[in-house]
Amino acid sequence: MHELSLCRSVESIIRKAVPDRRVTVIRLDVGEWRQVIPETMITCWGWVSEDAPLLAGSELAITVVPAVLRCRDCGAETRQRLPVFRCEACGSVRCDLISGEEFLVRSVDVAERPSGPPLSASDPAEEDPVGAPSEEAG
Ligand SMILES: [Zn+2]
Repeated sequence: MHELSLCRSVESIIRKAVPDRRVTVIRLDVGEWRQVIPETMITCWGWVSEDAPLLAGSELAITVVPAVLRCRDCGAETRQRLPVFRCEACGSVRCDLISGEEFLVRSVDVAERPSGPPLSASDPAEEDPVGAPSEEAG
């Protein structure tokens, strides 16, 4: 399933961009030409993110970018739908795809402050034995 591998790509991008923050929303631009089904993508993201503590529960907000062709003969820019690759103004097939191939993590929302202890405790000697229980409402 190609959505699943795209989700794994998103996961690795996010992990590099915000390795130590809890992520709440990921905004993704996906070109129409990539034939991604947003609902499938969101389902796959659920599987991928539940294994990653800082991504669990995060939301994938997908914007589908329309596929647009520019005609080399008449210069028209027309919206295209798969599988037709043809100028809608003059019918020419000499066209360039000018949008619709995007796959871009546009922005990431993170939680205001990290929740829980850091995942990679490099120095175990820093444990604090005196810990007052906190009663903050989540
Ligand atoms: Zn044309």
